[in-house]
Amino acid sequence: MSLKFFNTLTRKREEFVPLREDWVGMYTCGPTVYDYAHIGNFRTYIFEDILRRVLEYNGYQVKHVMNVTDVGHLTSDADEGEDKMLEGAKREKKTPWEIAEYYSKDFFENLLRLNILKPHIICKATEHIPEMIDLVQRLFERGYAYEISDGIYFDVSKLRKFGQLSGQILEEQEAGARIEVNPEKKHPADFALWRKASPNHIMQWDSPWGKGFPGWHIECSAMNMKYLGETIDIHCGGVDHIPIHHENEIAQSEGATGKQFVRYWLHGQFLQVDGGKMAKSLGNFYRLQDLEAKGIEPLAFRYFCLTGQYRTPLNFTWESIRSARNGLWNLREEILRRRRETEDFDKSEVERLQKNFLEAINDDLNMPQALSIVWEAIKVLSGKTWWKLILQFDRVLGLGLDKLDEIEKEMTTIPPKIEELRIKRDEARKKKEWKTADELRKKAEEQGYLFEDTPEGTKVKKIVKSIDN
Ligand code: AMP
Ligand code: ZN
Repeated sequence: MSLKFFNTLTRKREEFVPLREDWVGMYTCGPTVYDYAHIGNFRTYIFEDILRRVLEYNGYQVKHVMNVTDVGHLTSDADEGEDKMLEGAKREKKTPWEIAEYYSKDFFENLLRLNILKPHIICKATEHIPEMIDLVQRLFERGYAYEISDGIYFDVSKLRKFGQLSGQILEEQEAGARIEVNPEKKHPADFALWRKASPNHIMQWDSPWGKGFPGWHIECSAMNMKYLGETIDIHCGGVDHIPIHHENEIAQSEGATGKQFVRYWLHGQFLQVDGGKMAKSLGNFYRLQDLEAKGIEPLAFRYFCLTGQYRTPLNFTWESIRSARNGLWNLREEILRRRRETEDFDKSEVERLQKNFLEAINDDLNMPQALSIVWEAIKVLSGKTWWKLILQFDRVLGLGLDKLDEIEKEMTTIPPKIEELRIKRDEARKKKEWKTADELRKKAEEQGYLFEDTPEGTKVKKIVKSIDN
C-alpha cells in the first residue's frame, strides 16, 4: 500500500519513494540544550517518532539521525543576539559544557518517558567542528561564501532557488527585512556560516579565518552529510524552522554539492496555548514535570498528541489533556478486560481492521483515524489472538501497551501512607467536609497518586512516570 506524505518543498501530497529500495535516511533537528524542553517541543519529537515508526511498520529500515545543538544557536533564529548556550551558562553560573550535559540528559530521559525511540545517531555540534569548517571551505571554493569583519557569510543571491521551501521570493525578503543590523552583509537574508570570536568568548575553535565558532544552520548540513550522504530522503522539524533554519540548510548544502539536499521535507504544526504558539520566549509553556504534578503522566501527553494530525495546530488546555489521560486509562482498562475474555476472533474482521489502520497511518500519518480504529478493534474483538493485533498497532502508536501488565501493577500498588489518606478522605466526604477532602486529594497528588471519585468511594491510581521503571 502506498505511503503518502505532504512535502513542504512541493506543497503537495506525494507518494513516498526512497532513494534506495528499502532503506530510509531521516534527519530531525534536535534540541538546543541551554534549558529544559517544553511540551510544545515534545509534540514535534512525538510526530517525528510516529513518522519513523510508520516507516518501519511499512517495512523500511530507517536510519534516524538527531543533532544536539550545543553551540552557535543565537537568541534569534535570524542570526542576532547572544549564543543561547552562553546565555544559559551565565544564568546558571556554569560552563556551557556543563549546561549542555545537564539539559541533554534531561531531554533524552524525557524522550524515553514519552516512549520515543532513540535515534540511531545522536550527534553534538561541538564534536563536528572540522566537518563544518570543511563545508564552509567548499562554499568558499564554489563562490557562495564571503568574509566580513565578524564572520563568514552565505551569499543567498548566488543561489537561484533560495526561498523555495518557504515560497519567499528573495526580492520580497529584501523589501520586508527588518532594520539591518549588519551593514557589511550583501543581502539582509545572508546568514553566518562561521563567526569570529572575541578573545574572551568561551566557546571558540581554530579555523582558516581565525578563532571562532560555527553558525547554527551549518551544523545540520554538516552532520546530515556525514551520516546520511549528500542527498537524503526525509528531513523534519517544526514549522517555525521552514523560513530560516531549513531554508539556510538547503542553501548551504546545495551550494556545496550542487545536488538536491532533501527529497521530502515534513513539518509539524505547533502545540498552542490560547490559540497562540507555546514558546519559551513567551513564557506560556509547560514541562512534562508540570503535567505530572497535576496527575498527567507522559504517555497521556503522547496520547493527546495522537488526537491531532501533525499538520494541524493542537490547542493545549487542562481540560483537553485530562480527557486525553482518561482516554488512555480507558483504553488500558478496556484492553485488559477484553484480553481476559474468551476469544472472539474473526479473521476477516482482523484483516479489515489491519487494512484500515494501514490506510490511516499511510495517509500522511492520520493518527486520529488510526486511534479510532484501535477503539473499534476493542469493541468488536477480544481474546489472546486479538491482543496480538493491538500490539501490532501499538508498534506505531507507542503507547506502551506491550507493558500493560507492569503498568497495571504499578498503577494499582498503593503504599499504606496513601491508603491512609484515602480512608481519611472517604470519611471527610461522608461528613461533607469538602475542604479537608480536597486537601487530602492534593496531598496524595503531590506524592504521585490520583484520587478518583466513584459511587463506591475514592479510587486510587498511581501516576505512571516511566514505563521502564
Ligand atoms: P528548539 O529547541 O527551539 O530548536 O525547538 C526544538 C523543536 O521544537 C523544533 O523542531 C521546533 O520547531 C519545535 N517547537 C518549538 N515550539 C513548538 C511548539 N509550540 N509546538 C510544536 N513544536 C515546537
Ligand atoms: Zn537543524
